[in-house]
Order: sequence, then structure tokens, then C-alpha cells
Amino acid sequence: MTRLILHLDMDAFYASVEQKDNPALRGKPVIVGGTSGRGVVSAASYEARKYGVRSAMPIFQARKKCPQGIFVPVRMERYIQVSEQVMAILDRYSPLIEQVSVDEAFVDISGLSRLHGSAEDIARKIKKEIQEKLSLTCSIGIAPNKLFAKIASEMNKPDGLTTIEPGRVQEVIAGLPVDRVPGVGKKAMEKLRTLGVATLGQVRDVPEKRLLREMGQFGARLREFSLGIDEAPVVLYSEAKSVSNEETLEKDTNDPEVLRREILAQAESVGKRLRAKGMRGCTITLKLKRSDFTQLTRSITLKEPTNSTNTIYQVTMGLLDEVDRHDKFRLVGVGVSNFSACRPGPEQMSLFQRTEPEKKSWEDVEKAMDVIKDRFGRDAIKRGPLVPSS
Ligand SMILES: [Mg+2]
Repeated sequence: MTRLILHLDMDAFYASVEQKDNPALRGKPVIVGGTSGRGVVSAASYEARKYGVRSAMPIFQARKKCPQGIFVPVRMERYIQVSEQVMAILDRYSPLIEQVSVDEAFVDISGLSRLHGSAEDIARKIKKEIQEKLSLTCSIGIAPNKLFAKIASEMNKPDGLTTIEPGRVQEVIAGLPVDRVPGVGKKAMEKLRTLGVATLGQVRDVPEKRLLREMGQFGARLREFSLGIDEAPVVLYSEAKSVSNEETLEKDTNDPEVLRREILAQAESVGKRLRAKGMRGCTITLKLKRSDFTQLTRSITLKEPTNSTNTIYQVTMGLLDEVDRHDKFRLVGVGVSNFSACRPGPEQMSLFQRTEPEKKSWEDVEKAMDVIKDRFGRDAIKRGPLVPSS
């Protein structure tokens, strides 16, 4: 199935947030950055960019270029807050969002047309919602992979919406300055110049062996890019590879009831953390350490991602059943990982529809319990099996 990836980039984000929060700054050259005169520009409004002010430029230089500029300090906490509101809007369109920075995200919208219309419809809806709810503009690129989605979002800034259809990829490659390719910095650019490469398309003219010798792994990746290939998946919250918990037992045991309670308590902790982050994983892992400190792990990958305590618990108990329990154990761990593998193809769509009644009610119950526990402490509510059977 052809993938459809959307890349969203907020326009002059920090400066736009400052203008949104303070009407007096609207339409003015706003420069966000160190106000001491040292330091560099973190962001410049489009009005300031007209004077040649760019991010990463030393402040003193920005002052020279734009003496009438309004210099304001960085308010990172505020930008993160607005960023969360942007991501919350995206979250309603697809479960597969990879936030790459405070103002940038990839969204896998493959197979979402039935729910939300064409890719452009989705992009227009997102832009409209961000404009209406947050009074901010963004630029969106749509393409068959992440690389070209990102390149597309750059093409018509600000307030852009650009699609690179699969049939147009070759044309874009031919004309794209190679320093516009993500990952190509100064050093790589120097190398590429000596290889006679100015556009992404020209990477193909360099013999593959030479490219690999000169640029290593990145050369291989660049070559794929020059052929229009980028298989990198949209990875849900890329910083986290797994959410897990493990606990050393009070004393070594193979008592099934003690192990069961321990697994339930840990499934609860892992599920709660996943739900708090809005994450779901496909792979569930049970980890055990024997009395002699040797360790064993058992994993299973589900067809659909989960963050349900109940599912994590049931599956982990199934894994425990497969373990030889002659030995005593000193440590038990439960983990959930593999947040990206369950890409929503059309055949999997139902798994991602959060309104599915049965699943939703479970999740709602668990979410409500999380809130109560946060407010009243861990002991406020316990599932039946956790209460010691007298
Ligand atoms: Mg941006």
C-alpha cells in the first residue's frame, strides 16, 4: 500500500506565539532570543525576516540589520504549552504522530481517507483548526514518505500546503539543492561538492562504491533518497522505545499467587504511564530473574497496540504460563514496546477507531481510575485481585 505522510511545521513558531499572546507585537518585526545582546536569534517573525534576520544569527548582528526590531526573551514553557495544543489537534486525525521538535511533526495518514477525506482535505482541516483554535499558521507537506513530506512543507512557507505526488518525486529530486536534504550539514556539503554533487539527483551520478567510501552510512541513505526511497516509519514518540517496570521481590518465590499479584501491579503501572502519554504498544514483555541471577524474557507481539492494564495483565500472565517455574524468582518485570509497528493500513483501521465501544469503555474506566489514584493516592482504588484474599 502506498504510504501517505504529512509533515507539519509551524510558521516562525516562537515569534508567532509571542504575537498571538501580545497583540501589540502583531505585524511587527519580532525577534525572539537573548535580550542581553549576546546569544543568538531563536526565531524571527516574517516581518523581521524581511530585514534579513534569521534564526541562529548573533543578536548583535540582528540588531544591526533590524534596529527597529522588537527583541523579546525566549519563553520555552509557553511554547511547549502551545505545542501540546497543536499536537492534541493532530492526535484527533491519526494515532501515528511523531513529534520531531516543539513545532514539527510527522503524521502517518495512510488509510485515513475513509474517515477524514483526501490527504489535502485532512491538511486543510488541520490548518483551519490550528488557525481557529490557536490563531497560528502552519505549513504542511504531503508525500509518500517522510523525506519528501518534509521537503514539501518547506516549499510554500508560510501558510503553505504542498503535495508531492509519487509521480512528481523524480522531478523534485532533480531540482532539489542537496543542502536542503535533512541531515546534510556543512561537513557533508563540503564532501558532496568535491564529488560534484549540487542537487539530490546528482547523487546518483556518483558511483555507489565511492559514495559509500567517502560518506559511509549516510552516503547509502543519500543514495536511497536520490532514488526517491525513504522507508523510515513514522515512529510514535520517538524518544521512548519502551515503557516498563520491574520490581525485586521481598523474597525469592515461585508462588503463583505472589507472581500474579506482582504482574498485575506492574501491568497497572505500565498501563497508567502509557495512557498518561497517550501511547500504545504492540509488544508485551515479561522479564524474570531467577535466584541465581540468570534472567529470562518472554515477549509477544499483538496485532493491535494496547495501553490497557487488563490486556497487558492477561497477556503477561499468558507468558508466565510458558515459563518453567521450578526455579524461584527474585525479580519480575513487565514492559510494553514497539509503538510504531502497527501502522494503520486499511485492514487495521478498526483497531485505531477509538470509539470502538467495548475497548473505549475499558480505557475510560482505566483513565478515570488513574485520575482518582493521582488525587487520592495509590490505595484509593484497587482491582479485585490486588486486594489480599483473606
Ligand atoms: Mg517551524
